[in-house]
Amino acid sequence: MIRVERLAKQFGTVAVLKDISCDIQKGEVISIIGPSGTGKSTFLRCLNLLEQPTSGAIWFDGTNVLGADVDVPKIRQRMNMVFQGFNLFSHLTCLENLTLGPMRLLGKSPQEAEAKARDLLRVVGLGEKADHLPDELSGGQKQRVAIARCLAMEPEVILFDEPTSALDPTTVSEVLAVIRSLARDGMTMIIVTHEMEFARNVSSRVMYMDEGVIYEQGPPAQIFDHPTREKTRAFIHRIRSYTQRFTSPDYDLYAMNAEIIAFCDKHILPRTTRERLLLVVEEALQLYVPHLSSAPVDLSIGYSETEETLELVWEGHGGPFNPLENEDAPDDLGVVLLRGMTDALEYERKDTLNRLTMRLRTS
Ligand code: ADP
Ligand code: MG
Repeated sequence: MIRVERLAKQFGTVAVLKDISCDIQKGEVISIIGPSGTGKSTFLRCLNLLEQPTSGAIWFDGTNVLGADVDVPKIRQRMNMVFQGFNLFSHLTCLENLTLGPMRLLGKSPQEAEAKARDLLRVVGLGEKADHLPDELSGGQKQRVAIARCLAMEPEVILFDEPTSALDPTTVSEVLAVIRSLARDGMTMIIVTHEMEFARNVSSRVMYMDEGVIYEQGPPAQIFDHPTREKTRAFIHRIRSYTQRFTSPDYDLYAMNAEIIAFCDKHILPRTTRERLLLVVEEALQLYVPHLSSAPVDLSIGYSETEETLELVWEGHGGPFNPLENEDAPDDLGVVLLRGMTDALEYERKDTLNRLTMRLRTS
């Protein structure tokens, strides 16, 4: 349905998209993930002709989208976009927001446009809000109106650019539920998102974008569980875990504890696990503190729901340093305590890397 060939986009001298090629089939749900600033929005905006690519080709159902004689409004109607900031007309009611485009661009009569608009508002759960102004609605409701407005244009493909990132966390799920139901109905969609669980559940394919290219792509299970390339792995790991770098003995203990507690809450870990984790981190840090000024250490904490374990990885580069073996104090009480509080404790050295791995069972 969509073929992108060697697409590139520069802003001045900055190459944002470098060399993007991909094929998208009808009915596919593609999630695009990746660090911010890597060109995800620019890519969607090029597809939709909101940006003019510097070079490359885009084919949509046999039409050369970048051709001189292309009907731009027609392309945007067939490949319609939902924005992070809703972009609703604030002086029009929800119903009017939905009827405007179909009357102007699809040549629908007011009656026909209104009947369809009411149907669509019901589809997104907002039948009662037809005569309200957008500002009378919550963020999640506004975004559902924006999705209904997009559907009113009878698109063949919907492009979503971070549809939930401007929302209050409590209204994110109502918007995701609407997108999920569109996926079930077979709508072709390309969704830039930071909602990883959603991306995993809804997509047929996940594209990881980095450095202006599609760095890795594949089925969600591959990208999220077995990414093959270094940057994908680092990104997936980072979003799933708590990470912290310690560079001096004067680290902010309170901020760190608060973040670890937030991490535990996010994963709904039991209170006892949380307390044990906080103790383990604090105890382990004591082993590193005398060395932190000269040898910083990175801590990452990951949680595996399936294995019911927390894994703490401490990594620092430099000469060999095993914090479990303290020559000055062979029976270091801290190490004894750590052995008692963890279910596995292991030091390894790889090239210049010192790595200490700890596991805690959560059940
Ligand atoms: P993402 O959506 O992945 O966060 P964007 O596509 O928004 O990334 O932006 C990629 C890069 O392009 C950023 O560095 C951004 O500053 C730059 N950029 C985006 N739009 C423009 C523009 N109209 N003019 C100049 N630079 C831009
Ligand atoms: Mg963006």
